Amino acid sequence: MIIGIDDTDSRKGMCTTYLCAVLVDELKKQRYGEVSTPRLVRLNPCIPFKTRGNGAVSFEIRLNKEKEEEVKEVVKARVSGLSELSEEGTNPGVVFIDDTVLNAIGGGEKDSESVLKNFYENAVREVLTLEDAYEIISNLHLDYFGLKNKRGIIGALAAASFLVLQKTKPDCYDFTYELVAYRRKERWGTSRFIEEASVWKSDAATYPLTWDTVDVANRKTVFAPHSPCPVLFGIRGDSVDAIYKAYELIRAEPEERKMPFVTNQGTDFHLIMCEDAKEKLEDYHSYVLDGVVGSNPRTVEGGHVVFSTLLSGKSEERSIECIAYEPTKGFRDVIRKLRVGDEITVFGSLKKKTLNLEKIELRKLNLVEERNPKCDKCGRTMESAGRLQGYRCKRCGTYRADKDRVSIDRGIEEGLYEVPPVARRHISKPLVRMRMEMEGANRKIHPSR
Ligand code: ATP
Repeated sequence: MIIGIDDTDSRKGMCTTYLCAVLVDELKKQRYGEVSTPRLVRLNPCIPFKTRGNGAVSFEIRLNKEKEEEVKEVVKARVSGLSELSEEGTNPGVVFIDDTVLNAIGGGEKDSESVLKNFYENAVREVLTLEDAYEIISNLHLDYFGLKNKRGIIGALAAASFLVLQKTKPDCYDFTYELVAYRRKERWGTSRFIEEASVWKSDAATYPLTWDTVDVANRKTVFAPHSPCPVLFGIRGDSVDAIYKAYELIRAEPEERKMPFVTNQGTDFHLIMCEDAKEKLEDYHSYVLDGVVGSNPRTVEGGHVVFSTLLSGKSEERSIECIAYEPTKGFRDVIRKLRVGDEITVFGSLKKKTLNLEKIELRKLNLVEERNPKCDKCGRTMESAGRLQGYRCKRCGTYRADKDRVSIDRGIEEGLYEVPPVARRHISKPLVRMRMEMEGANRKIHPSR
């Protein structure tokens, strides 16, 4: 049976991954059956109801049919007991996908598989309703449980679907790992003790197989939250050995427990490619769009940098505003160097019709500058002779019809640039993870470190 869980926490406390870790440990201890490595699935990062990173969890437990009800009761009891129910935005949901459905899918039943596949993909890229989830639950005869308005059922079904797909088609989705350490209860809400030097050492020993533990350019550790939640820290990476090695090198307060997760973090799965974009670009969706810089960047109040992009591709929108927010720090220096006419690809989420930049590719820099021509006789700059009337040297009377086109040094290279780890979304793919594919495609990357 696969169990998906979501929406148990609030900004004031708890974390759905902690609840999952408690349950996985408890179910293992009670020997109900073999429990899989849990999944931590990041869903649409633009969803307004999210607490923080729009994460949901799932795991599989292999057990005899007669134990199913007992395990469901344990899960319901933990979700009811540990969720932050007094907080308005907490609306827990649990979905159970039992062996009848799993066996049918495993046996080649394509309809249910594609329904769950679509649901997971839409939960990461689109905005869904509870009715969308209920329709699938009813059609596939799934069992579920929810509290308050039960909105967590959307995330719970998506996380469970991700695990179904990973089981049936192991190469279907890119994935990464996170090893999360949890604090002892008496320390929740107090400041975290983590020896900073050990974090840098741990990162140096395991990067790039682990990533986003520290932000080198901004001299910050970024692997621990600052909220009152039970998470002490999380180490992300591409190898199980590397995340454990990094963990062993960290000196910190004693933890209550730790749990490894298989995740869709660092994969960019939220991005809808240009060619898949619908005619109308919609808010709360994330895109990869090709275009040409339409206005030179300008820094606005708050330190954010904005410019417009004239879009190519099939969207009916012809131009879009792009923004690099102040927290993206040094990434704004790249954006400030853009110039009208640069061919670019922008990556980010659309909010209030503005694309919030996560990455940018400078595909072809506009190296040509048009300048008033120089007089052949005296070498001085010629002046305009009037609209559409060419250029004339006032001294010598020489005439030229067109401007000179000179090649300029831009002080920036073509290639892909990213926001630094301090500003990175959980689901965004660090460029260091893209080095192989980019080298293969002869595209240059400029990782933030
Ligand atoms: P944390 O990261 O700390 O676990 P969170 O940021 O995951 O918290 P939740 O408390 O889980 O936030 O709230 C997100 C809510 O949005 C959940 O109820 C989830 O079911 C719902 N949701 C997730 N993805 C979508 C989507 N694509 N469309 C509509 N609702 C969604």
